[in-house]
Amino acid sequence: MHQDHKARLTTKKSELEERIARLERDQRHADEPVEKDFEEQASQRENDDVVDELLREARIELQQINRALTRMASGDYGTCASCGADIGEGRLKAIPEATLCIKCAK
Ligand SMILES: [Zn+2]
Repeated sequence: MHQDHKARLTTKKSELEERIARLERDQRHADEPVEKDFEEQASQRENDDVVDELLREARIELQQINRALTRMASGDYGTCASCGADIGEGRLKAIPEATLCIKCAK
């Protein structure tokens, strides 16, 4: 019954894993030359902050997706992890990784 959501979550998960791998490469500057002048270093630090933030968000999202997939496997998917209410199909369509009903999410 939740097959559509499962497919979307699995797709999202692999997209996120790819994004995280790419951001981690950026973070290590694996593809860049080592020598840099002062201005380049300053803009790189700013860029590093952005990369850190994106990485943090992507990891949180991945965690939520994994949690939703675990709940799917245990048959709890679609019910609120906090109050046990039905999360609702509309909300799951918008946010397939939701593990809280709209009331508990607020
Ligand atoms: Zn709830």
